[in-house]
Amino acid sequence: MKEDLRVELQALKAHPRLGVFCFGTQASSVYWAAQQKAAAELGIEIEGWRSQRPGNAITQEEVEGKIEEWNRACGVHGIFVHQPMPPELDPQRISALIDPRKDVEGIHPQNSARRFFAKARIGSCTALAVMELIESTGVALAGKEAVVVGHSEIVGRPVSMLLLDKLATTTVCHLGTDQAGRLEDHVRRADVLVVAAGRPQLIKGAWIKTGAIIIDVGINVVAGHVVGDVEFEAAKQRAAFITPVPGGVGPVTVMMVMKNTVEAFKLQRG
Ligand code: NAP
Repeated sequence: MKEDLRVELQALKAHPRLGVFCFGTQASSVYWAAQQKAAAELGIEIEGWRSQRPGNAITQEEVEGKIEEWNRACGVHGIFVHQPMPPELDPQRISALIDPRKDVEGIHPQNSARRFFAKARIGSCTALAVMELIESTGVALAGKEAVVVGHSEIVGRPVSMLLLDKLATTTVCHLGTDQAGRLEDHVRRADVLVVAAGRPQLIKGAWIKTGAIIIDVGINVVAGHVVGDVEFEAAKQRAAFITPVPGGVGPVTVMMVMKNTVEAFKLQRG
């Protein structure tokens, strides 16, 4: 993906610019560092915004003010807001305020709606990264049993839509599924399993169907170590393909942010 983007940027003879809202969390700092590194490698200009107020306190008004500024700026082609947003912000208002043509995470209602009709111009970076990884296996998805664990707006739901678009028979599991004691049943059937729950080792290796494709989106810090939502070592014995954490979905997602920035640039340039 990096090489393809490099070639495309050379052909465009342009340096798209991405504006990123960063928040003070550890996850946001790690993500921001990775985004800066990828942008520098590709020649994409990147600008981070952090609250300048004492203690990094953030207000809805200042975030909205910056979004409006970036919306107006013809030199800014993409806007990305790190998630989860701090509790003092209203995520729905913020999503709706971003110019849909600059919305590189596909969170504006117009972009979410286009995804529903399989007509997305720019989609959720994590969901697209998941699909990129699945498709890199070369396994055709039509008719496969796909199980998604987690139904958040930025990962679980968009992934399930994209799997449906590929004619996978798609089941979405969530907290209710687990509380009803049904998670294992669904996971055992999965030819393709995408887990985005943010619960360390939620999915037991023994549940994995032999030959399955496992995409572990989860990022959890346990005793100072980053782990996913799947028992990696045990699951690896049964899966045909499995993404590690760290080093699996994360780097592909960062590259997808860059790809979406280039897409947004092309969209604005017509
Ligand atoms: P989120 O908004 O907290 O959503 C978590 C989802 O998991 C919810 O739909 C929740 O269901 C479900 N869930 C929670 N506990 C469960 C359980 N015991 N059994 C089944 N489902 C359960 O999180 P998110 O933003 O989607 O992120 C999920 C994970 O992916 C996090 O660890 C996050 O750090 C990671 N992430 C990684 C990347 C990357 O690039 N690698 C990108 C984004 C996110 P209910 O709503 O019903 O409670």
